[in-house]
Amino acid sequence: MFHASAGFSGSEPLRQRIAVIGSGVSGLSAAWLLAQTNDIVLYEADARLGGHANTVDVPGTGPVDTGFIVYNEQNYPNFSALMSHLSG
Ligand SMILES: Cc1cc2nc3c(=O)[nH]c(=O)nc-3n(C[C@H](O)[C@H](O)[C@H](O)COP(=O)(O)OP(=O)(O)OC[C@H]3O[C@@H](n4cnc5c(N)ncnc54)[C@H](O)[C@@H]3O)c2cc1C
Repeated sequence: MFHASAGFSGSEPLRQRIAVIGSGVSGLSAAWLLAQTNDIVLYEADARLGGHANTVDVPGTGPVDTGFIVYNEQNYPNFSALMSHLSG
């Protein structure tokens, strides 16, 4: 279980305590967005975050991404925008 909370200033909407189930890209994106105005509890059944998205060290080859094989800005505009925002 992971807790995330982000401060909020300005007009004060009602902060809610919200449970997000699963830490794949869907859950992490929802938790990150909701944490701007709410208190989030993220539940993950696995021992690590990321869900299907993962990087595995293959001996003799190096790190291999198993989740996202195809990526381009034309077909993934929202995901691209999120990555750009997070990378500053
Ligand atoms: C073989 C393959 C290739 C792919 N290739 C691409 C690609 O090239 N490009 C691309 O954009 N996308 C690709 N995808 C799709 C992309 O990887 C998935 O759409 C994305 O990772 C799914 O994210 P998700 O958060 O919806 O689910 P997941 O990543 O599956 O995350 C779900 C999480 O919820 C957890 N969970 C489940 N039940 C519970 C519970 N009861 N309590 C707590 N935790 C729970 C799981 O442990 C997991 O961590 C591919 C998918 C597959 C299978």
